[in-house]
Amino acid sequence: MLLHVERVTKRYPRPTGEKIALDDVSLTVDRGQILGIFGPSGSGKSTLLRVAAGLLSPDSGSVIYNGERLDSMSSTERSRFRRREIACVWSGALIPDGLSVVDHVAVPLLIDSRDHRAAERRAREALLACEVEHCSDLQMEALSDGERERASIARALATEPRLLLADGPASRLSLIEQEQIMVLLASLAEDAKVAVLVTDSNADALLRCDPVLYLNEGKFASSAQPVQLGRVYPFPARPAQSAADA
Ligand code: ADP
Ligand code: MG
Repeated sequence: MLLHVERVTKRYPRPTGEKIALDDVSLTVDRGQILGIFGPSGSGKSTLLRVAAGLLSPDSGSVIYNGERLDSMSSTERSRFRRREIACVWSGALIPDGLSVVDHVAVPLLIDSRDHRAAERRAREALLACEVEHCSDLQMEALSDGERERASIARALATEPRLLLADGPASRLSLIEQEQIMVLLASLAEDAKVAVLVTDSNADALLRCDPVLYLNEGKFASSAQPVQLGRVYPFPARPAQSAADA
């Protein structure tokens, strides 16, 4: 099991009293699996992903990544770990002005001290895998919502993460684009053996996920909605270097 979130509680202080955003929540996700979480706005989806990514410390409980306690690492150790292993896609995140798509995708690789040319090559490969290579040399601002989500997934993919956390990547898209994004994420799980955790406020968007969990008021509840698995399209395999740890 790659990620194990164990009995996590997270509270936010508020002037009117504390808000319990996550209330004793547990989940596990492994490589090759795509786990979906749906729930209404305010149910705690983004908080859960931030905790799982090690960006936010839980008040109680633990986040265990590949056998190591992410929540008790020093912040330097956690940042290094996250840079190498975990990638996040925050839907509708502010995109830096003035960067071309390929540069935007290459940024995490450059932060990780990779050679500029190698970073650009890897960024172009990731854009191709996400079928948005035709946008590579445009400015980020020029992209449609769907293209921007794909470019964001390419940016995450370029770092070759083992865990991909995607917060509502399909939430602002048309049904067709939503389906394309979910096919892409399911392919990453199936073919590139990434562990994918994806959220949406709508269960219908998560038909390709297994399992699908329903989060309500910071707790998992059983869902009344049946879940069907769809067809998963092939995706280029991860390079040989990572095949050994599959
Ligand atoms: P979702 O992503 O499902 O919409 P969130 O995780 O963003 O839910 O929020 C869960 C709850 O926690 C909401 O009630 C929200 O208002 C509250 N919340 C989120 N972030 C903060 C914060 N920084 N300070 C106070 N309350 C917050
Ligand atoms: Mg949210």
